[in-house]
Amino acid sequence: MADVHFLDLREKSEDNYLKRFSRLLDESGLLDRIDRNRPIAIKIHPGEAGNLYYVKPHYVRIVYERLGNRAFLTDTTTLYPGERMIAPTYQRLVKAHGFGFAPFLVADGLRGEASKQIDGCEIAAVIDAVPQMVVISHIKGHMVTGFGGAIKNLGMGCSAKAGKLWMHSRSKPKLREERCQRCYICVEYCPNQAISRTDPPVIDYQRCTGCCGCLSVCPYRAIGIEWNAEARYTTEGIVRYARAAVKGKTCIYINFVIDITRHCDCFHTIEPPIGPDVGILIATDPVAIDKASYDLIEKIIRKAQPQTEPHYQIEKGVEIGLGTDQVQLIRI
Ligand code: SF4
Ligand code: SF4
Repeated sequence: MADVHFLDLREKSEDNYLKRFSRLLDESGLLDRIDRNRPIAIKIHPGEAGNLYYVKPHYVRIVYERLGNRAFLTDTTTLYPGERMIAPTYQRLVKAHGFGFAPFLVADGLRGEASKQIDGCEIAAVIDAVPQMVVISHIKGHMVTGFGGAIKNLGMGCSAKAGKLWMHSRSKPKLREERCQRCYICVEYCPNQAISRTDPPVIDYQRCTGCCGCLSVCPYRAIGIEWNAEARYTTEGIVRYARAAVKGKTCIYINFVIDITRHCDCFHTIEPPIGPDVGILIATDPVAIDKASYDLIEKIIRKAQPQTEPHYQIEKGVEIGLGTDQVQLIRI
């Protein structure tokens, strides 16, 4: 059984979210477990360029200021082309999104090549080097795993490019021709120019990195993957990478169940949230905090990502010893 401290933002309060978040940190006392004399990685996702719903710097700053000058922000490069693909443009994006108050290290080096192998997983070198992490995650839908939280932030978000490539290697999209309306939104979206503007569109698997973006942008759900085999394979990889990323470390997890979107923060598309703000959670167990977060918004996620198996990452996390799904919810 793992304790998960929960700030319920649905309850009326005179105080704003930031003040209430500070109270959650105070009352849980979990940040006291972090040693201020050793390096502290604060793992964030600062949002793709154009995305509006990542965890805002105001919250991250509150955490950073409590941890002292050994703390720094970090994330890894992306597989797909964009500002987060290499370190210099990533650094600029982080500043533009308001995180300039703290040092930011790209954890897997200039182009995502800096990694250390842990249990067969290519973990970003900076993540490997730190003894402790505070993992700040935004809870939202995800087209492969159903939803993304701490496990996804660790597994995909702490891997170097080689690891991401491996995890995505089986998530190859397939066109359902009978549903396709030839609108070519997928062609315009694909960051690797892997889809042809033909009738019907054709996916070039030599170019496709399996990012699954086209699945999300297609308004007619005309692109899919074989969920049972391929999505499970990717999810199992994410969970295994998550376990490698935290091996031997002290970690605290903070999940924000606010600004809940259908897709992950890697999307530059601006879409309205799919549900009201629910709350913020803090715990020492990544599986327990994701289980508690998912339980709060299960209906919304099932409606937004009906083709997925959101529970699978929790089940696998328990199975391989990443954490427990037995949650003791402590309301603040
Ligand atoms: S976005 Fe969907 S409907 Fe439009 S061309 Fe692509 S697959 Fe077809
Ligand atoms: S999954 Fe879709 S959007 Fe992503 S690279 Fe492949 S074809 Fe392009």
